Amino acid sequence: MTAPLHPDTVAVRGGRADLEGMGVHALPIDLSTTNPLPDIERGGESYEAMATGGRPPADGSMVYARLWNPTVARFEDALAELEHAEAAVAFSSGMAAMTAVILAHTSAVGRRHVVAVRPLYGGTDHLLGSGLLGAETTYCQPDEVASRIRPDTGVVVVETPANPTLELADIRAIVAQAGSVPVVVDNTFATPVLQNPIDLGATMSLHSATKYLGGHGDVIAGVVACSESTAEALRRVRAVTGGLLHPLGAYLLHRGLTTLPVRVRQQQENARRIVQWLIDRPEVAEVFYPGLDGDPRGILGRQMRGTGAMIAMRMRGGYTAAATVTGATALFTHAVSLGGVDSLIQHPAALTHRPVPPEARPAADVLRLSIGLENVDDLIADLARAFADLGGADAPASERAAMSEAG
Ligand SMILES: *Cc1c(COP(=O)(O)O)cnc(C)c1O
Repeated sequence: MTAPLHPDTVAVRGGRADLEGMGVHALPIDLSTTNPLPDIERGGESYEAMATGGRPPADGSMVYARLWNPTVARFEDALAELEHAEAAVAFSSGMAAMTAVILAHTSAVGRRHVVAVRPLYGGTDHLLGSGLLGAETTYCQPDEVASRIRPDTGVVVVETPANPTLELADIRAIVAQAGSVPVVVDNTFATPVLQNPIDLGATMSLHSATKYLGGHGDVIAGVVACSESTAEALRRVRAVTGGLLHPLGAYLLHRGLTTLPVRVRQQQENARRIVQWLIDRPEVAEVFYPGLDGDPRGILGRQMRGTGAMIAMRMRGGYTAAATVTGATALFTHAVSLGGVDSLIQHPAALTHRPVPPEARPAADVLRLSIGLENVDDLIADLARAFADLGGADAPASERAAMSEAG
């Protein structure tokens, strides 16, 4: 038996097993929407195999691109290997991936219930609370999962580190509380470079691939790593509902994976420097970053290989100060999304977490930073310039009033 390859190697080499046989080196892009059928029998058998969630038979056909696409499948194979999973299934967005996970686990009779650990990304919180998918959701804290499980619970949803305030949830402990109920972990913030939920007992590791996996802000996509049998259930939903990842997106994601470990390590290095700078700044009331609290419950040490490149902070001057800073940075782009090579700043309560009910919404004084690959001294200088616009450390009384109004 050969030793397993290092993740850095898998990132560069994964999902490329068939290229040499094709006589090509770079990833090919297959844009065919339909594919030749060998004959009616084998065409029909291929259709049947894929419509029920399987792979195209060796002597068959891929039939139609809603059922199978080789460019997408190569990206899925690479991601599955990075996540230590048997398989992965890619979707048109992170939300399409979460939708497929919920539908696949709650559409059976007597399986209508979801347990969701807060905090979650605003879109996920909203999707689960909307009732749009016909499921009923109970929200809870990480240590309340066991008490919220019901006979009709189909899936447990958890995100760690959580968007936007970087709370960590103990994946092993949640899996233990869930018992036989499948657990999906949103691994978007950590990436497979820093955390592998499948190794910790999770059933599925889900990504908004739009973020770190793509890494360049030019693809919307989602992907779920899991066992082959769970992948079959997800492919079935994908084939029926059509939430497909386009092969051009899959190509960009697969290409992006090659630099994922290097990007994540350097972005994390920059983030750590920025955190050290922020905690000494009088304009900042509190910095949220994994491990900054000394990891009292040991979760970080047990399940992550690093702290990542996302930072949240509470501004001492409240909402007004937060609004000033988002308008005053030059290098940090004031924009939602995260995980790309360029640094972004945004206000979660107003934007990414707007659909979350007030009791679970981030506070009005919280800003979220996604740290990119720019030179870290330039990034710190940019924040210092923006803080200078606040006009001193102590928020004027008018700002404190605005903060309490905004909740
Ligand atoms: C962005 C995001 C999503 C949603 O993904 P899209 O690709 O925008 O649909 C889900 N979870 C987390 C943690 C995210 O940051």
